[in-house]
Amino acid sequence: MYYNEIAGVKVSALGLGNMRLPKVEGQGEKIDREKAQEIVDYAMSHGITYFDTAYRYHGGESELFLGEAMKKYPRESYLLASKFPGHMMEKKENGMMGFTSLLAGHPDTTVDALFHEQLRKCQTDYFDFYLLHNVSEKSLVFYNDPEIGIVDYLLEQKRQGKIRHLGFSSHAVSAETIDDFLKRHEGAFEFVQIQLNYMDWKIQDAKAKVEVIARHGLKIVVMEGVRGGRLANLPAPQMEKLQAVRPADSAARWALRWLQGIPEVAVVLSGMSTLDQIVENVETFREPNPVSPAEKELLQEVAESMLSWVPCTACRYCTEGCPMELDIPRMIAAYNGLKNGDHMAGYKPDEAQPSIDPRRCIGCGSCASICPQNIRIPEILQELAQMLTK
Ligand code: SF4
Ligand code: SF4
Repeated sequence: MYYNEIAGVKVSALGLGNMRLPKVEGQGEKIDREKAQEIVDYAMSHGITYFDTAYRYHGGESELFLGEAMKKYPRESYLLASKFPGHMMEKKENGMMGFTSLLAGHPDTTVDALFHEQLRKCQTDYFDFYLLHNVSEKSLVFYNDPEIGIVDYLLEQKRQGKIRHLGFSSHAVSAETIDDFLKRHEGAFEFVQIQLNYMDWKIQDAKAKVEVIARHGLKIVVMEGVRGGRLANLPAPQMEKLQAVRPADSAARWALRWLQGIPEVAVVLSGMSTLDQIVENVETFREPNPVSPAEKELLQEVAESMLSWVPCTACRYCTEGCPMELDIPRMIAAYNGLKNGDHMAGYKPDEAQPSIDPRRCIGCGSCASICPQNIRIPEILQELAQMLTK
C-alpha cells in the first residue's frame, strides 16, 4: 500500500467505503456482518487506514457495524470518516431539525444530538475526518442557513477535539457550487470528496471540480472511482480495446490507475463487497502505477463510446423510497444493455420477478428527486416498458 497526505495526516491511497458492504440475501440493506468483518480485517492487515461511512449508509447500520468491527483495533491504528446528513434535513421550530427524503419519518432531532448519536454508534470519542454529506445546489439552503450554523457548530467540535479534520462531499451539478461554498466558508474545510472517474471527467464536469479544489489548495477523496461497478464491468467491445494493451488487467484496475495519475487525489474510496475485490484493489495500490498518456487517451475513447449510457452508479438511494419496491438500478442496467447491444444478465421481467418490471412504475417521481446523478428515472422506465412491449 502506498500513502498520501491530507492536511499533514498520512492516509492510505485506497480507502474502504462502507456503503456497499456484503448484504444478507433477501433482507434489504442488512449487512452480512461475518463477511463484512472479513473485508475490514483484510483491509487492516494490508495497510488500508481510511474507513469511510455515513449516517444513512445501509439504512443507518453502516456506522453501527463499523463501530463494532473496529473495536478490536487500537483507535489510533485507523482513520475514521463519517458524514452529517444535512442533505436530507430541514429546519423546524425551536432549534429542531426534521428529516426529509430517505430519512423522512425519523423523529426530529438537533444538530448536536445527531452528531453525538454518530459518535456513539461508531463507539468513538472523535472522527478523524468528518464531512457534510452532499453539498449540492439542493442542500445549500440547509448548509448555508446562518440560524442552523452547521459549519460553525462543526468547527466548535473540531476545537473540542471531536473532529480532527473537516471536509464535505459533493454531487453538485456545477463546479461553481463547490467554489462558492469553499469561498463562503474560507479556511473551514481541509478536503473535499467528489465523484471522480474517467467517465465523469466530462459528464459530471469532474475536471472543473478538480481544478476548483486544487485552486483552494485542498486534497480530494474520490467516491465512485469505478462508477458503482459500471467501469469494473465494461461491455465486451470496450474491454477488448483495453485487453489489447494490457491483457492481464481488469477493467477496475484501469479505472483505478487512471485516478492514480491525478496529483490532488489523496484517497480513492472503494465500496468493496467481496474479498476478491479488496484483494485485487490492494494489489493495484501496492505502488503508484498511473496510466501513460497513450493509455489515458484510450480510456477517453472508451468513455466517449459510452456517453449515451444512463449514468446510474447503482447507489440504490432511489430504491428505498419506491412505493412499488422496484429494483431501479437493475432495470437501468437492462435499459443500457438493450440500447447498446450488451448482455442482459438474466433480465426477464415476469410475474416471478415483479421488482424488475418497469410497467409497474406509477410515475410518482420519488426516485428521481433523490438520485444524485439527476437521472430522469420514470421516463427511462417508461421507455424500457415500451421497448419490452415491442
Ligand atoms: S438511478 Fe440514481 S439513485 Fe438510483 S441507483 Fe442509479 S444513481 Fe443511484
Ligand atoms: S417513479 Fe416509479 S420507480 Fe420511481 S419511485 Fe415512483 S414507482 Fe418507483
